[in-house]
Order: sequence, then structure tokens, then C-alpha cells
Amino acid sequence: CVAAGQPQHNAQGVFMGYIGSCTDITEQKELQHQKDNFIGIASHELKTPVTSIKAYTQVLEKMLRKKGDEKEADMIRKMDLQLNRLVILIGDLLDVTKMNTGKLPLNNQAFNLNQVISNLAEDIQRTTENHVLETNLKTIPAVFGDKDRIEQVVINLITNAIKYSPHAKKIIIHSQQMDDEVIVCIQDFGVGISPQNLPKVFEQFYRVSGEMQHTFPGLGLGLYISSEIIKRSGGRIWVNSTEGKGSSFYFAVPVAKSSASSPVL
Ligand code: ADP
Repeated sequence: CVAAGQPQHNAQGVFMGYIGSCTDITEQKELQHQKDNFIGIASHELKTPVTSIKAYTQVLEKMLRKKGDEKEADMIRKMDLQLNRLVILIGDLLDVTKMNTGKLPLNNQAFNLNQVISNLAEDIQRTTENHVLETNLKTIPAVFGDKDRIEQVVINLITNAIKYSPHAKKIIIHSQQMDDEVIVCIQDFGVGISPQNLPKVFEQFYRVSGEMQHTFPGLGLGLYISSEIIKRSGGRIWVNSTEGKGSSFYFAVPVAKSSASSPVL
């Protein structure tokens, strides 16, 4: 039950009591629970066939390349890239369900974040023709958090930087230590975000509406998932942006206690 009340005074200003309302949210909670359940089951059921189709396309591509059928192999490659997008969308839906139902386990450990960033930047650069990823990584100590999940955050932020910079090539990834945190910034020079949309971008299913937005595919989950991962790791996430000029997405994660004084990179 959610309650709201106002104190009431008479004409002389003497307190008379409270008038309030109480809303029963049991039904709302049940609906939310059913929605989470449905999304969880549907995405789980979609995952198996998509994974299997993906395995077949990869085998098929190899067979075609072996035979020298390059044109056909390229078409299968394109199918595989589209399947990658589907795998990410299904994974995002599964993650949101896990988060909403409190079932997202985090496997926290000390790890080298600069190494994670360098590897990812190299991997993503290999599959990106129109953007140049630069890194500006300062010496930092090991951080404490779930390595795979924080990797997922870095991927989300870099792929967004690419997606929302159709006409600006450069993306810069910075890292540095500040006190007992390591701060990472993914900076792009793309479409940017207006001040009224800025506070909402980390909300679940939120997408900026605008004439260009339909050209950028997505469900509005990447930033919500990223912010939940960072917050649950004891960190912080935020953004600075200027519409038409670009955005800088930041996150801070705690330095691993034992390595606070011993730099790893
Ligand atoms: P999606 O990209 O699937 O819409 P996200 O949760 O990743 O979902 O992002 C939410 C919204 O925030 C996007 O729809 C987009 O409008 C805005 N956004 C995110 N990253 C950027 C960026 N680097 N530049 C401009 N806008 C961005």
C-alpha cells in the first residue's frame, strides 16, 4: 500500500489532522511480476533456436569458403552478424528479467580493467570500418567487481558510441584512478543528447524520441543494464552530453582493497 497525506489546519492555523489517500499496489505488483515472467520465458525459449541457427551458419560459411563460393559465404556472414544482434537483444531481455527478480549473481574479484578495455577495443575495432577507437589509459590499480559484467558495460558503451556517431569517426576511451576509484570514460563526437532527455537515458526501456531515432535500432535496455551492473558493483555511472556535439559516458568502480597501493598497468 502506498500512502500520501497532507496536514490540515483551520482558519486560525491550528492543526486539525491529516487527510490522506492509500493506494493498493498489490495488483500492479502482480502485473509487473507476470510481465517479468513472460519476458523471461519468451527470451529463454528464443535463445535455444537462435544459438543453434548461429552454429549452423558458421559451419555453412566455412564450407562455402572452402569451396571458393565467396559471394555465398559473404551472404551467410551477413546473416551471422544479424544473428549476433538477435543474441544481444535476447541476452538483454534475460538480464533485465534477472535484475527485476533479484536473480543476477555477481562474481566479484580483483582484475585488470585496462587489460579488459584494450582487448575489447582491439576486438571491436576489427569489426568496425567507419570508426577509429583511441585509448588513453593511465596507470591504474586492479579494480574489484564482476569482470564479465563490467566487460559487458564497456561493450554497451562503446557500441552505443559507435551507433550514435554515424558521422563522427573518433571514439576515445579513457581510464584513470581518482582516490579509491577507477574512472572510465567513453567519449564520442556524435548526435549527443538534449538536456531534457539526459536524466532519463538510464531508465528501463527508455529511448530518446526524435526524427533520427528510428535509424538507430535498440530496445532501450543497454544503459539500464549497465547502470544496474555498476551500481550493484558498488560503483557509479553518469553522462555528460551536448546535443549535436557528442557524449561522454563515465563509470567509476572501486579499487580492489589489496592492490590500492600497487599499480598493475
Ligand atoms: P538503445 O540504444 O537500445 O536505445 P540504451 O539503453 O543503450 O538503448 O540507450 C538509451 C537511449 O540513450 C538511446 O535510445 C539513445 O537515445 C541514448 N543514447 C545512448 N548512448 C548514446 C550516445 N553515445 N549518444 C547519444 N545518445 C545515446
